[in-house]
Parts: sequence; C-alpha cells; structure tokens
Amino acid sequence: MEPAGGSVIEPRMKILLVDDTAENLVSLEAALSGLGEELVLAHSGKEALRRLLEDDFAAILLDVRMPDMDGFETAELIRSRPRSRQIPILFLTGYRNEEHLFRGYDLGAVDFLFKPIVPEVLRSKVAVLVDLSRGSAKLKEQAEALRTQADVLRKAEQKFRSLLEAAPDAMVMCRADGEIVMVNSQTELLFGSRRERLISRNIRELVPAWNFPPRLSSDDDGSSARARAGADRDWQAVRADGAAFPAEITFSPLRTEDGVVITSAISDISERKKAEEQIGQLNASLEQRVLERTEELMRSNDELQQYAYIASHDLQEPLRNVALYAQLLAKRHMGQLPGEADQYIQFIVDGAQRMENLIHDLLDFSKLDTRGSDFFARMNCRDALDDAISNLRALVDHSGAVITHDGLPPVFADLVQITRLFQNLLVNAIKYRGPDVPKIHVAARENGADWLFSVRDNGIGIEPQYAEKIFGILKCLQPRDRSSGSGMGLAICRKIVTRHDGRIWVESALGNGSTFYFTLPRRE
Ligand code: ADP
Repeated sequence: MEPAGGSVIEPRMKILLVDDTAENLVSLEAALSGLGEELVLAHSGKEALRRLLEDDFAAILLDVRMPDMDGFETAELIRSRPRSRQIPILFLTGYRNEEHLFRGYDLGAVDFLFKPIVPEVLRSKVAVLVDLSRGSAKLKEQAEALRTQADVLRKAEQKFRSLLEAAPDAMVMCRADGEIVMVNSQTELLFGSRRERLISRNIRELVPAWNFPPRLSSDDDGSSARARAGADRDWQAVRADGAAFPAEITFSPLRTEDGVVITSAISDISERKKAEEQIGQLNASLEQRVLERTEELMRSNDELQQYAYIASHDLQEPLRNVALYAQLLAKRHMGQLPGEADQYIQFIVDGAQRMENLIHDLLDFSKLDTRGSDFFARMNCRDALDDAISNLRALVDHSGAVITHDGLPPVFADLVQITRLFQNLLVNAIKYRGPDVPKIHVAARENGADWLFSVRDNGIGIEPQYAEKIFGILKCLQPRDRSSGSGMGLAICRKIVTRHDGRIWVESALGNGSTFYFTLPRRE
C-alpha cells in the first residue's frame, strides 16, 4: 500500500543460501541481489543450522547434494527446531527422480529448482516466498495487537463487572427498548430471580412503568436525560413472586456503538416510605395535640383573666370603704386616741393606698388583651412620648429629670398602650435613679423589619441575673416601702410590646444605668 506522499519502506528480509560450492553461492547471490533483500551465505548444512540459531529468515535455498550432511538431513534438523520450523525451503538439485522429490516434499520443501538454475525463475520464486513471509509477519503482528487489545478489553470488562457487583443497589443495564443485557447480584437478591432468567427479558417486567426518554440527539451524551429522570419520582417495582414494592431509580444512559445502554440503579425504599408515613402520622397527631393544648391553655388563660378582673374589680369596693373610714378616723380622731393608735391608723391608710394601686395595676394588666384591634392605627411615637411626659409632669418636675429624644418614627399601634409603655419606662428611670439628676434619652432606629426603640437612663442599674425576672408579674427587686410600686410596671410593658408583635429586654450593669430596648414592626 502506498500512502499519499511516499512509499512505505519495508524492512529488508533475510534469505539463507546454502551450498558447499563457492561458485554456486556466488551465482545465487548474483541472481538474487536485485531483490534488495539481505543474503546470508552458508557453505555447509552445519553452518546453515548455526546461522538459523542466530537469525530469523524469510526463506532458505538449500543445495541437496552436499558432503557430510546433505540437504535433506539439514532440512530435517531445520524442521525439528521450533524457531525454524515454518521457514519455507527451496531445494536446489540436479535430480529429477520422483523418490527424490517425495522425500523433499515430506521434509516440508515448498519447491524444487533444478540445475542449471535459470536466474529469472529463481528470482521470481524467491520473491514470492519473501512476499509470503512478509505477509505472515504482518499477520503475526496484527494477531499480537488484537490479542493485546482483547486482553485490555477483558480486563476493563472485569473491572466494570466488579464495580457493578460492588454497587449497593440493584444495577440493571438494558437497551433503550428495555431489553436487559447485564445485572449484578444485588438485582438477583432484590427481585428474587436468577441472573440467567433476567438477561434478555424486558426491564418492564421488573419495573412496569419503566420508561426512558428514547430520543437522545446525536450530540446528547445523556446527562440531560439523567437529570430529568429518576429520583424525582416514585416507582413501583415487582419481585419474581409478584410482590410490589416502592423503589427509587436513577438512570445513567451511555451512548455506545451498539446504541444507547441505560444503567438503572434500583433501590427498595419500603423502609423509608414506612418511616416517612410514621413521621407524617406523628406530625399530624403532634399538631392535633398542640392544637388541643393551645385551646386548653387559651381557655384557662381566659378564665384566669376573667378571674383576675372580677377579683380586682370586686376587691375595689370593700377596699375603698377601708381606706375611706381609715382616712375619716385619722381626720376626726388623730391625737385623741391612746397609745400607738395614731401610728396604726397611718399604717392602715398607707396599706389601703398601696393595695388600691396594686388592684388598679392588676386590673389594667388583665384588661390589656381585651382591647380589640380597632385601637390600632397609624400613630406618631413622638405624640405617645409627649403624652407620657405630660402625665408624669409632677414626678418629672419634682425629680428635676432631663428627658431628651431623637426623631421618633410613626408606627401602626395602639396609641394609649404605647403611651403607657413609655410612661412605665420613664417612671422606672426616675424612680430607680442614682445620686445624680436623672437623665433619660429615648431613641429609635431601623433594625431589619422592625424599629428598635431604646430608653436609656443613668440610674442604679440592674444586675444581669435579674434582667429577665423583672418583666414578671409582681416582681420588685427593691424592699417594699411607701414609694415602691406594685411590681406590675414592666409586666404591663411586656404585655403591650408582645401584643404589638415586638420584644422587650434590658441591658444594664449595676451602678451604670440601664437601657430598655423594645421593637415594633415597621409595617406600613
Ligand atoms: P415596680 O417598679 O413596681 O417594682 P416594675 O415591674 O416596674 O415594678 O419593675 C420591676 C423591678 O425592676 C423594679 O422593682 C426594679 O427593681 C427594677 N427596675 C425597673 N426599671 C428599672 C430601672 N430603670 N433602673 C433600675 N432598676 C429598674
């Protein structure tokens, strides 16, 4: 074959010429030199055998009549050696008798040339032998290459099979029409069927709804199909005994020379489904229980609130009588009664007053939630703060407190309650003052979806461990005296802020003032 651009240079082949007569060797050499092959000369059968040990030859030209070892004996030894067994032998002889020829052919001669030798005939016969030898060498090479290739393929297939076997899922390889070509042992286990029974069957016998997008365009390697199919839906698979089970399947299509081959990884998800169902049921019953419990709590909360309201309301009347008569007693008979009676009367008056405040605050607290959403409106926090300060005018003036504030935003809220919120915080900031004149600063800034308000004072501060406790009902940290409150102020603040979907907390260090923060939603 001549490839474009030049001829292929074939390697030179070796030809062994064996003759005991030097002149014969010279004329053989002369006749064959035109072939362009390498000619090796041997003067005896022994020398020829030695040469054959050293080299491979395309052909041997062997003189029959030689002293010591004739051509036939030499040929016999040549044929007995594996390395030289296949080399074609051309006998050169002067005899034409049949016995002679048979012996030669028996020894594997491919031809005879009769002396005197005609150079053209010799050349063309040897040329044919050399061509044959070249052809067989090529065939040998190709066979070797094929063997190596087959070896590589076999190893690759072994590797692939062991990978398939090692997969935790059932792996089923099939053609686009569903015909199964290979399965792993997990498939046998999962479907309860022997491998031999599965091969060549259709995968739809295992997964009835199995369907793979069969139209893959030529430039589609299948990865888009892989993304489309599989894990996003539930499949039903059927075992050999007819029992169905839920399965998860992912596809990996591969374009091969024989068409598309799809590997389906199939796993039984019965356990997972069962667990999901149980979780679903648990969730449902949990939701139901939470609902029931919430209803229960709301009912008892309502009842409690009603109770607190009725109790405080009903307590007011007798208490007012106690206070009234105690005051009357003090007014009319102060200084006339014996012993410590005056002091006792004063205790009664103070106690009644404190109790009235307490009942008043409790009533307020229990009424906070009963105000409907009708009271919510767009309002200005600045107005709420101003109202609070003016409600506290006497206390502010008396304490000399300095109240400052930044710009305050409008909010959607209950004005009366926000006023109350500021008022309670301001009262505390003045009430729990330090040695200096109370200084209070109110500010607000945006914080995500909320407004974050702060009321900062320079008072006595609060120890961190009480930072949460003080928002509870009836919680006072200071010993009760005439000036102390009911312990309801911050509980009311928290209820107001919570009702407005906000949060309230304090940051403080003892002796270093406190800052109360609360949030209100920034809804329009
Ligand atoms: P009351 O003031 O009636 O005791 P509050 O609920 O208003 O009830 O406050 C609870 C407690 O929190 C107070 O007794 C006080 O110890 C503490 N407290 C509240 N505000 C401040 C403040 N601004 N500075 C220091 N302590 C405070």
